[in-house]
Amino acid sequence: MRIYADNGATTQMSQSAINAMIPYLGEIYGNPSSLHSVGQRANEALTDARERVAKCLGAKPSEITFTGGGSEADNQAIISAAYFGARKGKKHIISTAFEHHAVLHTLKKLEKEGFSVTLLDVHENGIVTPEQVAEAITDDTALVTIMYANNEIGSIQPIKEIGAVCREKGVIFHTDAVQAAGHVHIDVVDQNIDMLSLAGHKFHGPKGVGALYCKRGIPLTNIIEGGAQERGKRGGTENIAAIMGMAQALEDACAAIDEYQARLIPLRDKLIAGLEEIPHSILNGDRTHRLPGNVNFCFEGIEGESMLLLLDDKGICASSGSACTSGSLDPSHVLLAIGRVHDIAHGSLRLTIGDDITEEEIDYIIKSVKEVVEYLRNMSPFWRDLESGKRKHII
Ligand SMILES: *Cc1c(COP(=O)(O)O)cnc(C)c1O
Repeated sequence: MRIYADNGATTQMSQSAINAMIPYLGEIYGNPSSLHSVGQRANEALTDARERVAKCLGAKPSEITFTGGGSEADNQAIISAAYFGARKGKKHIISTAFEHHAVLHTLKKLEKEGFSVTLLDVHENGIVTPEQVAEAITDDTALVTIMYANNEIGSIQPIKEIGAVCREKGVIFHTDAVQAAGHVHIDVVDQNIDMLSLAGHKFHGPKGVGALYCKRGIPLTNIIEGGAQERGKRGGTENIAAIMGMAQALEDACAAIDEYQARLIPLRDKLIAGLEEIPHSILNGDRTHRLPGNVNFCFEGIEGESMLLLLDDKGICASSGSACTSGSLDPSHVLLAIGRVHDIAHGSLRLTIGDDITEEEIDYIIKSVKEVVEYLRNMSPFWRDLESGKRKHII
C-alpha cells in the first residue's frame, strides 16, 4: 500500500493536464514571438491559456503574467508593489510571521533596501484578522501581503475582509494563493485582491510554472530581464507546454471545487477526529476555516523526522514542519508563529490528502500514526520523564 498524503508539497499531474501538454512538447513547437505560422500556433495557445487562467480567477487576460512558479510570482508581486509605493514615498510593508519563505525572504531583501516591514502576529488558530491589518496600516504603507491559505496548517484567511480594509485605505493587497488556487473558490474582484500568486503543481498541473494576477494600473517590475515576452514584464521564451498544462489543471480543478470539497472535507474531519484520540496531541490551524485536504498535528514527546521515516515504512508519505532535514534544528516558523513552543513544534505531522483517498486509507493512516506515536514514545527517555511526572506535560 502507498498513500501519498503530501499534496501540500506537490501533487501528481492529472492525465488531463498531461494530455493538454503533449501537443506542445511535440508538433506545436514554435516560439510564440515568431511571426510565422509555426510560431503563431504557439502564440494562439498562449492567448488561450491566459484567457482560461484569467476566467478561473475572475480577472482579465491582460492582468495575468505567466511565471516560472509560485516563488517567482511572489517575488515579482512584492517587489513590484514595493517599488511602486517607493516612487510615491511609501516604504512600509505589512505581512505576517507565517508566510512562505518566498514571501519572507523577499521582504528581508527589501528591508536591506530601506523598506520597513511589519510582520503581524498570527492567532493560535492560524488566522490574521482584518482589524489587525487595519491597525497596522500607516500613511507610509505601500503593500499588504498575506497568504490566502497557509501551506503547513491549512488555515484560510479572511481575504475579502482584509482586501476591503486595504481598498479603503488605498493600499495594494497581494495574496500568496499557491495553496488555495484550485482548492477553494477565488474571485479577485469580489474579494478585493489586487495581486495574487499561484503555481501549477499544487493543483495537479506541472512544476516550474505559475501565474501572477496583477490588477490593471499596478506596474510590474521585471525579475527576469530579457525580451518582450509577457508584455515585457518577464523575459524568456514561454514554456507553452507547461502553461497549457497549468491552464487545463486549473480549469479542471475550478470546475470541480464543490464536489472536491464535499468529498474531501468529511474525510479530513474523520482523520482529524481519529488523530485527536492520541493523548497529548493538538490540532494546528483552524477547524473550519481550513483547506479541504490539510491535517496538521503536534504530538508531545516526538521527533517529527522519526515519525516520517516510520510512516514511510508503512507506505504513508507525509511531511513535518520541523526543518531538521534541511540542516537546521529550528522548528517550523509557522508553528512558532501560532505559539507552539519549540519542544512541541518539533513533533509535528502534516498530512495533506488528495481527493483520490478512500475511507479505508483514512482508517489505515489513523491506525499507523497511533502505532508510530506509541512506538516512539515508548523508546523515549524524555517521554518517560513526562509520564513519571519528572517533567510537566505541555499539551
Ligand atoms: C509551494 C508554495 C510556494 C512556492 O511555489 P513554487 O511553485 O514551488 O515556487 C509559495 N507559497 C506557498 C504558500 C506554497 O505552498
